[in-house]
Parts: sequence; structure tokens; C-alpha cells
Amino acid sequence: MPNCDLYTYAASGVQGLHPYQPGKPISTLAREIGMDESNIIKLASNENPLGPSPKVNAAVTAQLSEQARYPDGGTVELRAQLAQHHGCKAEQITVGNGSNDVLDLIARVFLGEGVSGERCSTVFSQHAFAVYPLSSQAVGAELITVPAKQWGHDLEAMAAAVREDTRVVWVANPNNPTGTWVGHDALYRFLQQIPAEVVVVVDEAYIEFVADTDYPDSSQWLEEFPNLIVTRTFSKAYGLAGYRIGYGLSSEGVADLLNRVRQPFNVNALAQVAAIAALDDPAHVERGVALNSAEMMKMTHAFEHLKLEWIPSVGNFVSVDLGQPAMPIFAALEQQGVITRPVANYGLPNHLRISIGLPEENQRSIQVLTQILREQA
Ligand SMILES: *Cc1c(COP(=O)(O)O)cnc(C)c1O
Repeated sequence: MPNCDLYTYAASGVQGLHPYQPGKPISTLAREIGMDESNIIKLASNENPLGPSPKVNAAVTAQLSEQARYPDGGTVELRAQLAQHHGCKAEQITVGNGSNDVLDLIARVFLGEGVSGERCSTVFSQHAFAVYPLSSQAVGAELITVPAKQWGHDLEAMAAAVREDTRVVWVANPNNPTGTWVGHDALYRFLQQIPAEVVVVVDEAYIEFVADTDYPDSSQWLEEFPNLIVTRTFSKAYGLAGYRIGYGLSSEGVADLLNRVRQPFNVNALAQVAAIAALDDPAHVERGVALNSAEMMKMTHAFEHLKLEWIPSVGNFVSVDLGQPAMPIFAALEQQGVITRPVANYGLPNHLRISIGLPEENQRSIQVLTQILREQA
């Protein structure tokens, strides 16, 4: 819908773009329904309910007096720590303002017009994380959506969908909003099938939460596949979503290309300090992961009790099938101060995505949901 005189002059990819819909902030809902912020629970953006490690808070407080200075544009200290953490070279790491920033860099570097001005294409799965098509379409790439298999990525079909002009394939492992994942052998076979000149992005935003022994850490394959980019984030298990920091792991050559288009100071100084401190407290991450698995169990038991189906998830969120359009239920939950996430924009109109929060938050969300469904019956 044209909304200003300059609409027709916007890049063609941008004209058809629908912006990302984030979870509603607590302060916004508090204003809308006239409820105190402390009574509102947000289970809409897969954040860590424990928040960041106390070490992060201490490090950030100490950094506050230095904020007149530009941050380290090369994120030297953080990349050194990450290189040690992953057993790779600092030159293989691209740090972003959230891993979304890295996803965007990938699209800009590999999905813009080709050398002779031709349009290229990109492959991703139905129900996949919304940022892949968003960043890809913005730079003018043609989107190839591959139908999902049991809500998850159909890697065989995705490999078959790669065309001569395909430059990037996106794999979310696990995927958001479905929580589905692909196993070691299937992903390795997929990497072997994809031509060397096509970039494979494996987005591992939720890797810390996955307990299954068949789940692959794709960074083990970086040397074997120079076209592989693995993305990670501090937003989820590390509890730093508000700081905006994530990174990509790749070959040195690919990292060099990504760093060419990166803004000189894309990652602020507080985020850098926070990430370094977060890496130094693995026990905090483990506490969050343990809490998540215990609470995920309780949530899915509650769904079972309500006779609701859900998509089995290895992340810190779960999409439950309400068996009816989810939007009215979402709105009713909001009226009671419970923020969840409708996922109709992902092709899942009957599902509601609920992040796993603190025990009392999960309990209250279930209570309210139960009451809403009962009143309907
Ligand atoms: C939350 C999420 C991210 C992380 O985004 P940040 O920009 O690092 O906060 C990346 N990928 C997926 C699939 C996600 O759900």
C-alpha cells in the first residue's frame, strides 16, 4: 500500500516488504489495558526469564563511566574470547548488533544483484524464522519457500530446490517459531549436497537449550565447508536480548566479506562488555537451561491436560495448537496481562507461541488460558 509520494522510488524489494512484528513490550500493554507493569508477564520473545548473569551486571556497571568513548569497532577482546570458546580463529568471527544484524549482512553480501546485474534467489523453509525472507527480499532476492515436513525443515526438498541462481540457503536449527530441529546425519548430508558456491546459513540461536545427543553443533564442520556460516546469539540462553549482540562463525574469507559491509561501530560498548562477562559464567547458562527443561515439561503436561496439541520443541518456547484461530485467544490473554505471540504470519493461524518463563509465570499463563478456554465451552 503506497503510503508516501516516494513509495514508487523505494527499492523494489522494499515496496513489497512487511515489517517484522516483535512481541509487545510490557510497558505498551500496561498502558493499553491500564494494568500495573508488575502484574504483566511477557512470554512472547523467548528471553531468558533469569535475566543476565550477575557478572554481566557488574561488568556493565563498571563500563558506564567510559561511555563517552566509541566502542572497539573491531570487537577485539570479545572475538579473542569467542575464538577460545569455539577453538577457531578470531578472523572467522563476525560480531553483530544481535545475530539478526549478521543475518542481514549475509543477505547484503550474497543476495544483492549479481556481477552482471541479474537477480538471485534464496531458499528457506515454510514456517522458518521471519528475518530470512525479510532481509533477503529487502536486497531484491527471489524467495523460494520449501514446504515443511511435520512442521520442520525438509532438508531433502530444500537441497532439491536450489537453483543455478541460488546464492544462500537458510537453516534454523532449531527453528523459531516451531522449535523443530534437524539431526547430525541429515544436516551433514545436506551440507554435502549443497554446491560449494552456495552459502549455507545454520542459525543456532537456541543451541544451548538442546539436550538431544543427535543434535549437531554445526561449527564442527566449518573447516570442511567454507560456504558454511553458523550464527549464534547472546539474546536467548545468555539473557542479553536488550543489549543486542550475536555473531557469525565462518571461514576467514567469508568473515572478511561480511565485515566489509558491517557498520564500523555496529556493536555498542556495553554489549561487548556484557558478552565477555556472560561467557565467563557458564553456570548461569546451565541454570537457565535446567529451568527451561523442567518448565517445558510442565507446560506440555498442562497442554495435554487441556487436550491441546503442540509442536514438540527443543527451544525455550513452544507453539500450541488451539484448534481454532489463535488471535482471539491471544487478545483475551493480553486483557489478563499475559503476552504471548500469535504466529499466523508464519502460516500457523491456530497456533500460539509461548516462551518458557519462570515457574510462576508459566503457571499463571496456563491458569488464564484454561479459564479462557473454559468460558468458551
Ligand atoms: C531470537 C532469534 C535469533 C536471535 O536474534 P538476535 O538478533 O540475536 O536477538 C536468531 N534466530 C532465531 C531463529 C531466533 O529466534
